[in-house]
Amino acid sequence: MKIVLATSNKGKVREIKELLHDREVCAYTDLMQGFEIIEDGDTFKENALIKARAVYRALGDENAVVVADDSGINVDVLNGAPGIHSARYAGENCTDKDNLNKLVNAVKSTGKQSSKAHYTAAIAIVSKEGEGCVHGWMHGEVSIYPSGENGFGYDPIFIPTGHALTLGELDSDVKVGISHRSKALHLAKILIDQIKNQRSQAGRLPMM
Ligand code: IMP
Repeated sequence: MKIVLATSNKGKVREIKELLHDREVCAYTDLMQGFEIIEDGDTFKENALIKARAVYRALGDENAVVVADDSGINVDVLNGAPGIHSARYAGENCTDKDNLNKLVNAVKSTGKQSSKAHYTAAIAIVSKEGEGCVHGWMHGEVSIYPSGENGFGYDPIFIPTGHALTLGELDSDVKVGISHRSKALHLAKILIDQIKNQRSQAGRLPMM
């Protein structure tokens, strides 16, 4: 059963492939030309479902199981910003670095050097069996002093609760053990297994 990821974000594809290493996984852009998906939902869940449905429809493969992640960071001192706008916080064609700099400056402008923050990942699954969505969270704080090159996005300023270093400095194995995406994927695997079981039972001949 092939799992198709509804993202072309290299950081996400790498992390999701690592976490689903025992499954057959590919990015939808390995199968077709990438296309723009308007993420106009009001929540991570709505946007994850919008992405998964768009890719499922575009693939035209009834048997595909499409998995989409919508994620972002909420910073307490910024009243929860950037939240669902995390990917385009600094503008339409901005880079991860532009977003990180904007966040650092926004926290600085409050007069603080750090703030409580959390990451959220919503993972939607769309297949012919139906739709589902699960969530995972990682709590910690953001600092105005970026450090480290690991991870992606806001990782160089995010210090997870219980750690003294940023995700940019911590080993990728540490992130895999605690991340919002890992937690959501752990739940997503349960839904994926249910689909697999349903399909293998449907393929069996009835007992005489
Ligand atoms: P999406 O592709 O619309 O879900 O946007 C997710 C954005 O949230 C990314 O571009 C990053 O800016 C941020 N983000 C989500 N998860 C992570 C993470 O694990 N580390 C760093 N930044 C993240």
